[in-house]
Amino acid sequence: MSLPRNALVLFSGGQDSTTCLAHALARYARVETIAFDYGQRHRVELDARLQVLRELRAQFPQWAARLGDDHLLAVPVLGEISETALTRDIALQMQGAGLPNTFVPGRNLLFLTLAAALAFRRGLDVLVTGVCETDFSGYPDCRDDTIKAMQIALSLGMDRRILIDTPLMWIDKAETWRLAESLGGRPLVDLIVEHTHTCYLGERGARQAWGYGCGTCPACALRAKGWERYCGG
Ligand code: ZN
Repeated sequence: MSLPRNALVLFSGGQDSTTCLAHALARYARVETIAFDYGQRHRVELDARLQVLRELRAQFPQWAARLGDDHLLAVPVLGEISETALTRDIALQMQGAGLPNTFVPGRNLLFLTLAAALAFRRGLDVLVTGVCETDFSGYPDCRDDTIKAMQIALSLGMDRRILIDTPLMWIDKAETWRLAESLGGRPLVDLIVEHTHTCYLGERGARQAWGYGCGTCPACALRAKGWERYCGG
């Protein structure tokens, strides 16, 4: 049995997906990246991912040789079903369940399907994604069972074995920092702090120990808490 060699990383430019990208670069022979632009992303997030790619290439020459093309797919249809008058009642219900009002049900299923289609065309057999049950169990399409079901559905539907590699599934944010350190040492941790973007509000704001952001939104709070625990032990 030959091991899978080539990977497509769902890469948003945040802490999690940058750690996933490093994981893929340490493990697979050829690695490409993909992100989705659905009109709700902050410009700063799209800029951050390009900056992270530049820094990875410059600081990690052993990885630069494996890092191939970057793909940005426009998916404007998601904007049409996220916050329109047609979906307002449903959106309110979901807010009651603790999910943000921009949440599009099953969005990650669509992203994985699009990524798998691109991977097929590019000769890549592994999808790497930073989904995680530990911190964000509110998103049912990011859970382990959903991902496993998608792996089977995509492999059957494309008649080709597609693996979905989820290195962060069972670890928390502090362990994600530790994983980055184990993959690329302190230089990778510093790169992630300085160049990745996590803040929901799209703010770069003041530089904190854990990076830039508003400091108070749920994404910033989670990142800050993980950093504190990582530094503390
Ligand atoms: Zn924030």
